[in-house]
Amino acid sequence: MQSKTEQLKELNDRMIKCSRCVLRGTCKQVVPGEGSADAEIMFIGEGPGQKEDELGRPFVGAAGKFLDEMLGIINLKREDVYPHTKITENKTDNEKYASNQKDKSFGVGVYIANVVKCRPPGNRDPLPEETEACWPWLVEQIKIIDPKLIAILGKHSLERFLPGQKISQIHGKAMRKNIPEIGTRVFYALYHPAAALYNGGMRKILIEDFKKIPKVLEVIHPVKSPTSRGAEQFNGAKKSDF
Ligand code: URA
Repeated sequence: MQSKTEQLKELNDRMIKCSRCVLRGTCKQVVPGEGSADAEIMFIGEGPGQKEDELGRPFVGAAGKFLDEMLGIINLKREDVYPHTKITENKTDNEKYASNQKDKSFGVGVYIANVVKCRPPGNRDPLPEETEACWPWLVEQIKIIDPKLIAILGKHSLERFLPGQKISQIHGKAMRKNIPEIGTRVFYALYHPAAALYNGGMRKILIEDFKKIPKVLEVIHPVKSPTSRGAEQFNGAKKSDF
């Protein structure tokens, strides 16, 4: 039996040879994703931008720096299997928050991927046929990693998992939904870091939603019961938590 890391490596080897849609013809390289194979939380963005295309890694541009900053607020680093606890001087509210959290190790890893693994030319939105063509790769990633929580970053990712929903209405709420290919999962929608980067109001909301992640992970019921119902809000512990 292969380990999860071996399975992911084997998957990535297949993924980088993919030519299921036109995007492979214009991008420099496939960006499969990165992080811990044992991640309890998977962050799923839209698709690689220029920097990601150059480096072959997800979220390494300006939006990625912001994502790293927010992971830091909840004591996670993308390369960690366990939360890092190195907190510098308390200066800002967020740093104070991180400092208060530092002993509350919740022992989760992080995996970061996208709905499309190849950069759409000129950073245009991915087309429905492109996200469709790339979907089986994401399904395989989710099935191998089997995360407790899928954090949806932005509207294209949201449309893939919870079609018809609006981020402005469901951000910061955990939702349980059955998707035939991946089973019943808990989703947590967030504004896309790139959209929130230069929008003060959205940025604040995104940071507040991020801060709720440790609590959401704590209250998710470990048993994944199959259900044919649509997406429903998941209030594992107290309604006020979401
Ligand atoms: N935006 C995304 O959605 N994904 C990336 O990898 C980078 C920016």
